Amino acid sequence: MGEQLSQYTTLRLGGPAQDLLTHTDPAAWPDLTHAARRYPEPPFMLGGGSNILAADTAYPGLVIRMATTGITTRLVGDGAVEVTAQAGQPLHHLVTHAAAEQLSGIEYLAGIPGTVGAAPVQNTGAYGQQIADTLTAVTAHDWHTGRTVRLPAASCGFGYRTSHFKAQPGRWTILTVTLRLTRSHHAAPITYRHLADALDVPLGTRPPLPEAVAAVLADRRARGLLLPDDGPDSRQAGSVFLNPLLTPAQAAAVHAAGGPLHRNADGEAVRASAGWLLQQCGHHPGQRLAPGVYCSTRRALTLVARDGATATAFAATLHTLASQVERQMGIRLRPEPVSVSPRP
Ligand SMILES: Cc1cc2nc3c(=O)[nH]c(=O)nc-3n(C[C@H](O)[C@H](O)[C@H](O)COP(=O)(O)OP(=O)(O)OC[C@H]3O[C@@H](n4cnc5c(N)ncnc54)[C@H](O)[C@@H]3O)c2cc1C
Repeated sequence: MGEQLSQYTTLRLGGPAQDLLTHTDPAAWPDLTHAARRYPEPPFMLGGGSNILAADTAYPGLVIRMATTGITTRLVGDGAVEVTAQAGQPLHHLVTHAAAEQLSGIEYLAGIPGTVGAAPVQNTGAYGQQIADTLTAVTAHDWHTGRTVRLPAASCGFGYRTSHFKAQPGRWTILTVTLRLTRSHHAAPITYRHLADALDVPLGTRPPLPEAVAAVLADRRARGLLLPDDGPDSRQAGSVFLNPLLTPAQAAAVHAAGGPLHRNADGEAVRASAGWLLQQCGHHPGQRLAPGVYCSTRRALTLVARDGATATAFAATLHTLASQVERQMGIRLRPEPVSVSPRP
């Protein structure tokens, strides 16, 4: 067995992988696909490991860690610029690079850990913005056909924290991501009430780009949404449950109980706050849930690993919390982190 996955996940949990290769040179991709053919299953793709719960047991296969970096830009007219980033590029670096170049469209994604290549997988988003808003295409390797293809955004199946890439685990490796950003000194209009309030401006305001990035980082810091380098909350994968979709009856019940409701970008579907549901069931920041597994010191929706934690205990805790919310509130929660476990 090879390297421990715990070295590469922000929860610092996970047993050894049979083999782990780090991909740093885009030109070497064909060689890597060739090497991967000796394994019976397609490789498991690892980015920054910030949305992964890797099992304690050994992973019997190949893991490829995407560490290619590089950003290129191309003027496309009408004040738009096409920005293409390699999959291993840290997303936050791309955000600050774009803001420094006066390119607007991804500024509200500041402070999200992980890589550009993983962002389309769960259509990573925050503060009313998601990667799908500006993504025009990805280049991706299809392990089913063995070919590398360019997929336009319309073929990516984006939805709330989901995509075809997430729905077909093991099929796709994203190699590059292309975004269409707008040349401007100003950020996209604020659509997220909490951020507008933090800046004391009306919804729809377009703050200067550096101000928008700084406001998001300050707000994330205040709410425990940045990944700390050390301290009690440093081992985590962010929110552990997605905000669940509600039926009209559930939405009415949550509203009557004073709970916040979020509308999907389509304006139709209504979601509850998973954090609020946990709080309604008595969970609170700092709470000990299992040996080594706690709610973060800042919010119930982020679970953290501390001394003595195992992936097994972490996964069992997610199951227990989801069952409790379903029993007490009649609403089913789905975990956000992706489980990496041996295939049955
Ligand atoms: C403190 C904190 C705050 C967070 N805040 C947010 C937030 O506001 N919004 C949000 O959406 N998420 C958030 N997250 C979750 C996470 O950071 C994002 O989902 C991020 O996009 C994951 O990137 P990653 O590179 O770490 O992916 P990983 O965790 O390495 O992988 C996640 C999934 O993507 C797949 N994958 C990774 N790279 C590739 C690739 N190149 N090709 C194909 N598949 C790939 C993996 O196989 C896995 O299924 C947060 C996490 C933390 C720890």
